[in-house]
Amino acid sequence: MSTPSCRNSSVLRGTGLADLGSNTVDCPQCGGENPLPSGERLLACQFCSASLFVDRSGVVGHYFLPRLLDADNAVAALKRWMAGNETVKDLDSRSTIEPPEPVSFPVWMFRSRAKGGAETAHIEPAAPTPIPQLADLKVPAGQLRPFEAESQDVPRAEATIPLETARKWLDERGVDGVFESSLVELPLWRCGYSYEGGSFQALVDGSTGAVMAAVYPEKAEAPYYLIAAAGLILFGIEGLLISNPLIKLVVYAITGVPLALIAYWVARKV
Ligand SMILES: [Zn+2]
Repeated sequence: MSTPSCRNSSVLRGTGLADLGSNTVDCPQCGGENPLPSGERLLACQFCSASLFVDRSGVVGHYFLPRLLDADNAVAALKRWMAGNETVKDLDSRSTIEPPEPVSFPVWMFRSRAKGGAETAHIEPAAPTPIPQLADLKVPAGQLRPFEAESQDVPRAEATIPLETARKWLDERGVDGVFESSLVELPLWRCGYSYEGGSFQALVDGSTGAVMAAVYPEKAEAPYYLIAAAGLILFGIEGLLISNPLIKLVVYAITGVPLALIAYWVARKV
């Protein structure tokens, strides 16, 4: 019998397919041969009780992150993000937040080791999501637990994106030296909110409190560009009209004051 790590890498190269054909899968952790009822994708190894996920291209370890934030914590995390600098001013007080819904969301997690370098973890979504920041999530490796389903009330998004597809995305991102793949179920909170007649959605990571949103009421940048443009034009004209460097300096200073005041006013407003 080969060592578990060797077996693991052979499965990841796709040679685990033969095992799937014969309706048994080899556990990537202990190498034990497990029967696989047809159509099943989840199983626990009979020998080492590892949680496994069966993908078209192989068998991988299956984990979940415990849900550390409850619904109130999730709303609090969302409000902190809304009060932050990325979003439009006062979004936290001016939006109506719906009760957040828990969802268990699957991601592929890859570990890679650069030549002589440290290990890095990479995430790719295992189900379709409109929120690209999922790939930037940090999975706290120490908190990973062998998969067990959350309560009945928590719907689980199914892993419909094949491991192979996620590996291709990883290649496109230029990640080399992948030595381990696994499926991780993330405890997300789906938070809907409305703001000035528009509906928005954000995801809160129930293990870390990180907030992800693709579309949200952003801080308007146009007023800042207008002020900058006005400043450039004013200073430019003054520079052309006034030749005495001392007077030029004084005029620049006088022009700068209202510009700074307008900028301050805009910053308070948007
Ligand atoms: Zn096992």
